[in-house]
Order: sequence, then C-alpha cells, then structure tokens
Amino acid sequence: MSVTSTAPMPRAGILDLSPYIGGEGRLTQGVVPVRLASNENPRGCSPLARAAYLAAAEDLHRYPDGTASGLRHAIADKYGITFEQIVCGAGSDELIALILRAYAGPGDEVIHSRHGFLMYSVAAKAVGAKPIAVDEKNLTTDVTAILAAVTPQTKVIMIANPNNPTGSLLAASEVERLVKGVPPHVVIVLDAAYAEYVEDGAYNDGSRWVASHSNVIMLRTFSKVHGLAALRLGWGYFPPAIADVINRLRGPFNVSVPAQAAGIAALADDDFVAATVEKNTRERGRLAVALEEMRLGIVPSAGNFLLVHFGAEAERIRLALKDKGIFVRQMGAYELPEYLRITVGLKADNDRLIAALEDILAKDA
Ligand SMILES: *Cc1c(COP(=O)(O)O)cnc(C)c1O
Repeated sequence: MSVTSTAPMPRAGILDLSPYIGGEGRLTQGVVPVRLASNENPRGCSPLARAAYLAAAEDLHRYPDGTASGLRHAIADKYGITFEQIVCGAGSDELIALILRAYAGPGDEVIHSRHGFLMYSVAAKAVGAKPIAVDEKNLTTDVTAILAAVTPQTKVIMIANPNNPTGSLLAASEVERLVKGVPPHVVIVLDAAYAEYVEDGAYNDGSRWVASHSNVIMLRTFSKVHGLAALRLGWGYFPPAIADVINRLRGPFNVSVPAQAAGIAALADDDFVAATVEKNTRERGRLAVALEEMRLGIVPSAGNFLLVHFGAEAERIRLALKDKGIFVRQMGAYELPEYLRITVGLKADNDRLIAALEDILAKDA
C-alpha cells in the first residue's frame, strides 16, 4: 500500500478549488499605496464605530452574545424588518457559504450570472455543487436567460444587485420577473452589498421580495459603505424557515463582540453614510469623465467602483499602476480579462490614479 493512499483525502471537488485571491494592497518600500482593489471605504469607518470597537476591548474575555440580539434589534429598527428573520454572519461571505451548505450539494446546480460575484461559484464548488454561469446582456444580469437555465437540479440562484464587478443595476421590474418565474423550492439570494450607494429611486435592496416569498433571501454587509471590512460583519434577511436552518448550521459565536458593538454604532451614524455616498457619487463621476477623456470605456456603475475597459493591455497597465503604488483589481477570474476594476478613492487617490494613467498611456502613444 502506498503512503498517499493512507493520507487523509478531502471530499471530491475540494482540491479543484483555487483559494480566493483578494485585492493587493501592500508595498515593500516606503511608498504610501493607493488601495483601489477591494471596494473598501477610503474614508475609513464612522468614528462612533471605531469608539465602540475600542470600548469592546474591555470585554475580550467574554463570549459574544450568540444571538447578536443587540445588533439584530438595531438592524430591525433601522430597516423596519422582523427581528426573528435577521441572521448575522462573519461577513456576508459566511452567509453565502452557509446558504449553499444548507441547500446545495453534489449533483445540484447553483446559478449565477456570468460576471457575478466570484464567491458564488467558489462557495458552490466548496459544497460539491455545480456552478452554472449564465450569460449576461450588456454586462447586466439577464433574467430571461436565467429562467431558461433553471433545471430540476437547480437549488440556488445568486444575484448581486448592484453587481460586483460590473457595477450594473438590475431593475426592480426584472427582479420581480425573476422572483415570479422561479419555482418556489429554489432559493433566490439577492446580495445587496452596495445598496447604500444606489441612487435610482426605483431600486429595492431585495427586502420587498423577502417579505412576500418563502424562498427569497437578501444579504447586506458592513464591509462596504460602513468601512468595517476588517471586522467581518454581514447580515441577511431571511424567510423564517430559512433563518431557522441557517441558525442551526452557523457557529454559535460566529460574530465577535467588537464586530457586534461596531455594527450597532455604525448603523446609528447616518451622517457618516450620507457623506460617504455623496463623496463617492461626486468622485465616481469625476473619475468616469477623466477616464473617458483618455478614451477608456466605462461601464455605468451604481457602486463605489468602476469597471474600465483597457483591451489587451489591461494586465500590463495594472502592473504599471502597481509599480507606481496604485492597486486595482485584475478581472481574469471574472472572465473579463480586458477590464480592470477600480474602486473610487478619496479625491487625492483618484488624482494620483488619473495622473499615473495619463503617464502610462502617454508613453504608449
Ligand atoms: C464585498 C462584497 C460582499 C461582502 O463580503 P463580506 O464578506 O461581507 O465582506 C458580498 N457580496 C458582494 C457582491 C461584494 O462585492
């Protein structure tokens, strides 16, 4: 008997996974990097959230409230939704993984749009299910194509709205058509990680459909507009029966004491969120104009980032930007290798990016 045959082997499919590669952001020397690769809030977080985090240091010897009841009450009050239907997670990534563990497995299919958030296919493969990438139309989720892709094996459909990395918005009428057209035993996840940034008055984060359907879930995160990515905090609004399932499956203390405390404080700071959104909208518009003046194609974005078309030169330009201390995200894993995703930074960050790109593109001319 060979040595390898007695070594522990993970379940089928696990070794087919590639570890998720996050946005780069560290430099070796003394250059101050401009980190535009992970859609973080360049303004940091609310000072109230930071103070709550620091105050939580007094209680590091205590286990968290396993039901996160203070945070869930704050969420319920803020959004006018039912406390019992809220489940918090260590980032919405954890909730995505738990939903797929609960509802999909070997032989099952998990539908996502072709250029949808990468974690959907990663988390599907992690449970042995088959991710099904459905083609988009104009870099936007195509509901007709998704409905046509539903088979008896389909267990979960995952849609980010606005989507990352395209920034495109799916109209409420299209979400409605999706929810109406999918059989009720299929779980639909509406991931609204960038909801706060959306200005379209017709937009709904998904809560409208959770309230009226037993198979629709909405996910939200504290990592984006609230600027708490380091703490790992997300939440979902679930139909009661699915909330019950996720609560059975999750770790009993999956959300830490400092994360719960900072989350409650962040929800109370409307001014911080409003100022972040206002600055993002202004800088996103300014950045789009500057990039268009360089004859670069921009996908209209409802989020805090822009998907920019660089053609065959995309990777070379990414590396040239990195040489200048500016990090943006490569899009090969999203099947968009001719694009780079650029997070909207502070005014000074965006100025540095614009100047660097002008310099790189001038040398090419
Ligand atoms: C950033 C992001 C998330 C949030 O992930 P966390 O685990 O909460 O940090 C979820 N969905 C999408 C589409 C995102 O872009």
